[in-house]
Amino acid sequence: MRTFSKSGKLDNVCYDIRGPVMDEADRMAAEGTKILKLNIGNPAPFDFDAPDEIIKAMTDNLRNAQGYSTSKGVVEARNAILNYHRSKGLSVESINDIYTGNGVSELIVMVMQGLLDNGDEVLVPAPDYPLWTAAVTLAGGNAVHYICDEQSDWYPDIADMEKKITDKTKAIVIINPNNPTGAVYSKDVLEDIVKLARKHELIIFSDEIYDRLLMDGAEHTSIASLAPDLFCITFNGVSKSHMSAGFRAGWMVLSGDKSKAEGYIEGLNMLSSMRLCSNVQAQYIIPAALSGTGAPDEALKKGGRIYEQRECIYNLLNDIDGITAVKPKAAFYIFPKIDAKKFGITDDEQFVLDFLKEKKILLVHGGGFHWEQPDHFRIVYLPAVEDLKYSMGELKDFLSRYRQDRC
Ligand code: PLP
Repeated sequence: MRTFSKSGKLDNVCYDIRGPVMDEADRMAAEGTKILKLNIGNPAPFDFDAPDEIIKAMTDNLRNAQGYSTSKGVVEARNAILNYHRSKGLSVESINDIYTGNGVSELIVMVMQGLLDNGDEVLVPAPDYPLWTAAVTLAGGNAVHYICDEQSDWYPDIADMEKKITDKTKAIVIINPNNPTGAVYSKDVLEDIVKLARKHELIIFSDEIYDRLLMDGAEHTSIASLAPDLFCITFNGVSKSHMSAGFRAGWMVLSGDKSKAEGYIEGLNMLSSMRLCSNVQAQYIIPAALSGTGAPDEALKKGGRIYEQRECIYNLLNDIDGITAVKPKAAFYIFPKIDAKKFGITDDEQFVLDFLKEKKILLVHGGGFHWEQPDHFRIVYLPAVEDLKYSMGELKDFLSRYRQDRC
């Protein structure tokens, strides 16, 4: 009988947020075990509802959204996107340079499919949001990871970035604000990255999906606003800022000097047309979202839910012997360091699996974000303070006995 296996193209794709830990979590859940999930940045299960304005824009437009839109998206959405990014200093020529997507995810895959030939290299951060590495790999490219430095607020290490540029490098990816570290990059760091891109004629891809989820007065600078002479693609969407990940509304904006990217843009237009268009009903929520209504501003201030959950997780983690964490300034992730020596950890995925089995709490190991050493993990701090307190109490208890090398 004929059997089917996955395409060989997927063999090298590093997208290991699934794997043994998720398999075990699924198995436990199927047996009826309740698992506390600190592993996924999906606000809805934690009682973060999409704002009424967003729900209204979605439902009001059901009848308007029956047919395909033009492949880049409806004019209303792209006008709102144009105004938003121009207000952040991007030099965008017109709405022709804006493409809506079924979330940013679809567009990340699209930009790599359109750009890369086999063996081309793209600089991707470590740690990264792993879809970036997967998309590069799937398109036949090699993701070359540059280090983000925990000692410097998780900023990209510019010297490491430069060291890794070769004649095959086509682009630099930055994720700012960052998942998984919660870092918000300073203007100086961004200027340094622009200098490198300018010197080596690289495209800049900037994933800014968390730019409206800032705390402590942090200010977000779009790198493209500092590089009007370079070709940049900026990604954004409403999944996180408007707690509407399930609606699938994202976009990308081409800005700066397009003269050297005409062929690439032609390819992007082809790919955009091939998928016909993004979910049309969801495109209609974009003007409402970008008008500023319904943004989670209160939740991000002192006393607000995301802020207080961040404070709680940060303090509790740093209170555990053998764990340290840099305070995140944006989004809802923290990427703590665990003293691998103290706990005899050589396999971070095994650590997360052991913790899941014993405590029924799900984390993601650092390796899932292409962090090479077995000494980090990521927590999503969307759950309520009581759940965060409970989970950190359990982690403390677990670590008081854990030695991986003696298991
Ligand atoms: N980029 C980053 C940095 C993310 O963290 C995520 C989701 O977690 C995405 C992109 C995907 O977003 P979307 O829901 O728009 O596909």
